[in-house]
Amino acid sequence: MARIFNFGAGPAMLPEPVLRQAAEEMLDWHGSGMSVMEVSHRGKEFIAVHANAEADLRELLAIPKNYKVLFLQGGGAGQFSFVPMNLLRGRGCADYVQTGYWSKKAIAEAKRYCRVNLVANTEDSKFTRVPKLAEWKLDPGAAYVHITSNETIEGVEYHWIPDTNGVPLVTDASSHILSRPLDVSRFGLIYAGAQKNVGPAGLTIVIVRDDLIGHAMPATPSVFDYKVQADADSMHNTPPSFSLYVSGLVFRWLKKLGGLRKMEQINIAKAKVIYDYLDQTEFYHTPVVKEDRSRMNVQFRLRNEQLDAEFLKQAESNGLSQLKGHRAIGGMRASIYNAMPTEGVKALVDFMREFERKHG
Ligand SMILES: *Cc1c(COP(=O)(O)O)cnc(C)c1O
Repeated sequence: MARIFNFGAGPAMLPEPVLRQAAEEMLDWHGSGMSVMEVSHRGKEFIAVHANAEADLRELLAIPKNYKVLFLQGGGAGQFSFVPMNLLRGRGCADYVQTGYWSKKAIAEAKRYCRVNLVANTEDSKFTRVPKLAEWKLDPGAAYVHITSNETIEGVEYHWIPDTNGVPLVTDASSHILSRPLDVSRFGLIYAGAQKNVGPAGLTIVIVRDDLIGHAMPATPSVFDYKVQADADSMHNTPPSFSLYVSGLVFRWLKKLGGLRKMEQINIAKAKVIYDYLDQTEFYHTPVVKEDRSRMNVQFRLRNEQLDAEFLKQAESNGLSQLKGHRAIGGMRASIYNAMPTEGVKALVDFMREFERKHG
């Protein structure tokens, strides 16, 4: 069976060459007579997989030496708790910017550990924009400032990095990490679940500045204490080995492609194909303000919502899968992560145009 174009938000498409290599190596990984899932995570071979993945990720994002890279479990949502547990450092308050579904979840979880200062909130404008820095009410005593730099559900993305006056900036980059170069030095901590734009579910990446770790709340589970895991090279317990291995293949694929600058150019071009079309049709529209539109998750709606079901049905039969928007907001969403080929985006717009011609 041919591969389809999967616009699902996550778990999401993976690059075909990566899937092929993983398939080829499945039964006999590097002459071991075993799959990579069956080898000891403490063996020499697997330690090399881990070390190469870290080295490649450091190279791709140009991660400075004074940052630790942790490969953990628990997902993006796990970090909603582990960030406050590790980073409050005895302070009673953290700053959070509320820009959509995922930041809201992060805030609800943080409230179990500290007072949350809502720095800015775009709920009034239905989460269709990133609040301008001039609107932010930062608390200089906050332990950190938390943002969600790509709101996966609403399709709202920061295209700039806020200046937080020396208070460590933390971002949930789950759905756009590795989509573009990033100045890591502007952040105290960056986290991302792998299953959106990196690899299979199970792996969570945490990139954290050295000086912020080592002050976890006493109740923090050891496996989620950044210092404990940093000291153990993320092997305090068994890492999600298969997900880490596949993510490592994705890092190699990105390097071969030309790195994140090249990836960004491709992503800009892909997003432009859809947004340009959305901007000149009356049949569909996107509620997200132009300068804050996500390159990864394109939220759009049919003006006549009565046609939603028919649109999704016909899309599916054209090999365009999982375009239904999140149940929280409805409408449509096309997730076009790194692994989505340009042809997929063009096929989507061709389909949308044809659907408009028939039903407009
Ligand atoms: C999907 C997602 C999460 C939740 O990730 P899990 O790995 O399911 O816990 C958190 N934040 C953002 C921005 C996401 O897109």
